[in-house]
Amino acid sequence: MDFESEISEHTLINLEKLKTNEVICPKCKFIFKYVGKKIICPKCKFIFKP
Ligand SMILES: [Zn+2]
Repeated sequence: MDFESEISEHTLINLEKLKTNEVICPKCKFIFKYVGKKIICPKCKFIFKP
């Protein structure tokens, strides 16, 4: 396996593990994707839970 194919395979595994969800910020209504339990709005920095 060459270095490049190793990298892309690793990325694919990571993307499958980290399931992204789409949320709407309750403060500024900005729609974005998050990973994990804590969500921080990239626009207004408002922190909330899904
Ligand atoms: Zn926001």
